[in-house]
Amino acid sequence: MSRIFYTKPSITELEQRYAADATVNGWGARCYDYLARFEHGFAQWLGSSHSLATSSCTGALHMGLAALGIGPGDEVILADTNWIATAAPIRHLGAEPVFVDVLSDTWCIDPADAERHVTPRTRAIIATHIYGNLCNMDALLELGGRTGIPVIEDAAEAIGAEWRGRRAGSMGAFGTFSFHGTKTMTTGEGGMFVTNDEALYRTVLTLSNHGRATGQTRQFWPDMLGFKYKMSNVQAAIGCGQLERIDELVARKRAILAAYHARLPVNEGFHLNPEPSGATNGAWMPTVVCDPGLGVTREMLLAAFEAADIDARVFFHPLSSLPMFEDRPENVNAWDIPRRAINLPSYHDMEEADIDRVAETLIKAVRGAQAKVCAT
Ligand SMILES: *Cc1c(COP(=O)(O)O)cnc(C)c1O
Repeated sequence: MSRIFYTKPSITELEQRYAADATVNGWGARCYDYLARFEHGFAQWLGSSHSLATSSCTGALHMGLAALGIGPGDEVILADTNWIATAAPIRHLGAEPVFVDVLSDTWCIDPADAERHVTPRTRAIIATHIYGNLCNMDALLELGGRTGIPVIEDAAEAIGAEWRGRRAGSMGAFGTFSFHGTKTMTTGEGGMFVTNDEALYRTVLTLSNHGRATGQTRQFWPDMLGFKYKMSNVQAAIGCGQLERIDELVARKRAILAAYHARLPVNEGFHLNPEPSGATNGAWMPTVVCDPGLGVTREMLLAAFEAADIDARVFFHPLSSLPMFEDRPENVNAWDIPRRAINLPSYHDMEEADIDRVAETLIKAVRGAQAKVCAT
């Protein structure tokens, strides 16, 4: 029996062919060919009017927030359950992240708690679609519309997810994606900035090129202080191959999540990524949150997975619990859920027998915990 990895990209002959072509021919007059094709194809697939390929999702967020004019004294509201990539750019711009609680069922930002934390300094609300689950975009967009605060979508984990027929990442003031090697679609490292706002796109385009505006004819003449968060043409070539296969990649993720749902029933206390009506879960990372009544802890789950030679990945720690931020234990769900949860392996080529092994390991761990609970 071999180790079960939690993620691993699916790279076929197609991506190899494009990458080889870019390596041999993608220079000189053709140095942007794959980049242009990737950006155009991605925007079209997503249903967004503008897109810009970046070196990472973190970079895309950093530039988007900068383009909105966010800086010292400003506040940005986001869920306490998040990867630090979503919060770091806020601090880098001199603004303050304001961490609010998540809903117990979707593990995404609680719109009511977000509203309670709006102040005159609030300059944006970030909706992170965690693990492929959808934020309640109706409530967030309504709040944004009512208060004039832009809603941003961090869709790094939600490629393929949909909210009432609209793709995650295409609904907010801007959206960001990650193509890190662990994500549903990969370019090794990489990201995408998307928006329907022409002016915002122009600003980010300029920022992304060290502040050199597209119309500027003077050479080496930055018009403002910018960034260097570009994707390379070779990475974009891999991206073009992955994009042609995106529906297949997402469908496989969804099939793996469905297989876990079938093996880990909710009536036995297993809460997996939900799919409320009107939402399509992107299923990037199947995750199980155990019912408190099961008496299972994260440490038990980690030990059981390790013993079964399965990658054990913890549910995100609340960001406010990290050393560079102030504790916000009042975010009860964000602080409690990780203590009885674990991410499940879900790479494209995993087999039914692997899914069985993961599910059996989980069920055994839960029975072990219950035996302990009963004995006390
Ligand atoms: C992966 C991830 C990011 C960062 O993506 P990079 O491409 O590594 O910068 C940002 N936000 C979330 C929610 C992520 O999961």
